[in-house]
Amino acid sequence: MSSQERDRRVVPGDVIGHEEEYVEGQNVFLEEPAGLLRASTVGVLRLDNNLKVASVLPARTLRAPGKGSFVIGMVTQVRESLVFTELYGEISLDPRPRWVKEFSGRLTGVITPEHISDSRIDDIYSFLRPGDIIVARVMSTISPYLLSLKSPQLGVLYAFCSRCGSLMTPEADGFRCPHCGNFEKRKVSSLAYSRDAIRIDVKRIGLIPT
Ligand SMILES: [Zn+2]
Repeated sequence: MSSQERDRRVVPGDVIGHEEEYVEGQNVFLEEPAGLLRASTVGVLRLDNNLKVASVLPARTLRAPGKGSFVIGMVTQVRESLVFTELYGEISLDPRPRWVKEFSGRLTGVITPEHISDSRIDDIYSFLRPGDIIVARVMSTISPYLLSLKSPQLGVLYAFCSRCGSLMTPEADGFRCPHCGNFEKRKVSSLAYSRDAIRIDVKRIGLIPT
């Protein structure tokens, strides 16, 4: 068994083995008549090869982001002087973008205009809109987490067309819809061009359509 298999993260319904290989342990159920063992909770797969038991260790309770960490979230509400986001997980940017962990609970982040840009912001909608998936830096240690977008790497990773709902393509200072041609201004993260590295996990937790 590789270490990758040992640390495999699973979600409810994932097939983790067959009844001929293992018996069902904690948080695992047997699907008859196929004989498939499936996870019943979010967690990490544990295969005991001596006792032939397959179990899933539940994801730990709330893991909070640390000050200075980089997080992925979705913009939920945009007001004149405050942007609300739901935070989903933490990423690492060094040496290249990769997923670190998913938060087990939904956390709230807020962004004020002075943490978006050094220049005066007349229209916050030309920086962020509801539904945008962003990468941001955490500036505080308690919820709601204060976020900053003031670095080229920070900003919008994924934006959806406000006309037709399609996933848009990043350009220099905004996103363009490949279907209807609509262009919308945003604070584009430089990672939006290499976002495939974290795309799989963002897809898996349902933030972008498959
Ligand atoms: Zn469109």
